[in-house]
Amino acid sequence: MRQRGATRRRPQRYSAFGLLRHGLRHDDWPRVWRTSELDRRYDVVIVGAGVHGLAAAYYLASKHGISKVAVLDKGYVGGGGSGRNTAILRSNYLTPEGVRFYERSMELYRNLAVDLNFNVMFAQRGHLTLAHTDASLRTMVWRAEVNKLQGVNSEVVSPEEVKRLVPFMDVSNHARYPILGALYHPPGGIIRHDAVNWGYARAANALGVEIHQNTEVTGITVRDGRVQGVTTPRGEIAAPIVLNCTAGWASLVAGMAGVKLPIITHPLQAAVTEPVKVFLGAVVVSGSLHVYVSQTDRGELVFGASTDPYASYSMRGSLEFTEELASHVLELMPSIGRMRVLRQWAGLCDMTPDFSPVMGTTPVEGFLVDVGWGTYGFKAGPAAGEAMAELVATGRTPELISAFGLARFEQGRLVGERGAASVGH
Ligand SMILES: Cc1cc2nc3c(=O)[nH]c(=O)nc-3n(C[C@H](O)[C@H](O)[C@H](O)COP(=O)(O)OP(=O)(O)OC[C@H]3O[C@@H](n4cnc5c(N)ncnc54)[C@H](O)[C@@H]3O)c2cc1C
Repeated sequence: MRQRGATRRRPQRYSAFGLLRHGLRHDDWPRVWRTSELDRRYDVVIVGAGVHGLAAAYYLASKHGISKVAVLDKGYVGGGGSGRNTAILRSNYLTPEGVRFYERSMELYRNLAVDLNFNVMFAQRGHLTLAHTDASLRTMVWRAEVNKLQGVNSEVVSPEEVKRLVPFMDVSNHARYPILGALYHPPGGIIRHDAVNWGYARAANALGVEIHQNTEVTGITVRDGRVQGVTTPRGEIAAPIVLNCTAGWASLVAGMAGVKLPIITHPLQAAVTEPVKVFLGAVVVSGSLHVYVSQTDRGELVFGASTDPYASYSMRGSLEFTEELASHVLELMPSIGRMRVLRQWAGLCDMTPDFSPVMGTTPVEGFLVDVGWGTYGFKAGPAAGEAMAELVATGRTPELISAFGLARFEQGRLVGERGAASVGH
């Protein structure tokens, strides 16, 4: 497909004086992306303005010259999981397919600030997954070996090494859940999720992509097994390609095209404390205690856990979550007992049976999916966007994502990532 009628615009750059002036006066702040009239026809309609939809739009325009693209969202940019996650990036997964895929995303993330000309605040501070049982230590050894074979820096370390990396961690034998070792992944880290979303939105828009917020897709038209376009409260839109990037809502949107997905939506909660002096270097995950923690550059501790056990579309936090979280965190780090929790929130996670995503074609021609991102999809945004853009542009499924097709559930070719993705997102 050729690019049609795209207006190219350079993202705004600021001088030090310009920044100061904009800091003092708000009325002339330039928009990060332009709003435009909704057209009746696009080459590609992307449903969902999270990191996946925005990255796919950006790579369609930047790598393939396809910019007659509309990204539609029923809410606002980053209003789904992409603005609610705990922003942990890593590639130390369990299957070779998973490790290769997430490592490509890490590669893109490493250059993203330069690529988008936007500071995404990627801090590679190391990622520790603690083992409290012999069984989990065995899984860590397995993961480390798979990682190394794929060229990913990952190794099992002793409790003493854990203590060296995180000095206030209780690694004694007196702990209720003694630490037997950990999987250490030095390239892992955290990023600023909003900056990634805004950076992709701005760069895609500068290349001609339109972003339409508050534009819900309420129907998908399919004729003779082929997608024709979408219905919104702002009218019908024709498009030969419709890409579903709606994560927690993915099965509802796929249902509009008559496509059934093996996905169940669960809420996932997180919480953040008041800021304190920075003392925690690495990201720390404990599968047995169902908890993980990192510290932001501002000094807040960000906590997460596994999904709520029931299926729901609710994005409300619960008291049970905070209580349970606090008790588990204090098992690991008794010394932070007096820190106060500042706020908590929840997002929706589109869980698949094998804890791996679903990317590629569907039985409806032209209707593509980039979904099933569960609790781990933020880190995947760049690689998934790049691969989906290639699929749209060439009509061929890139090798990197070929294992993650929808057909695998019929064919029994699952990509089992539960051992590496249930708590450590
Ligand atoms: C608390 C929490 C912590 C997490 N931590 C991590 C982490 O540390 N690392 C990690 O990699 N991942 C993490 N995740 C998972 C990650 O956030 C998601 O997998 C990822 O953001 C999904 O991105 P997306 O672009 O596919 O979807 P989303 O960002 O969810 O975007 C989907 C968009 O679709 C829109 N939409 C839905 N229905 C419609 C419709 N009918 N019409 C138009 N628009 C529609 C929604 O409004 C939404 O904006 C976490 C998730 C949560 C909730």
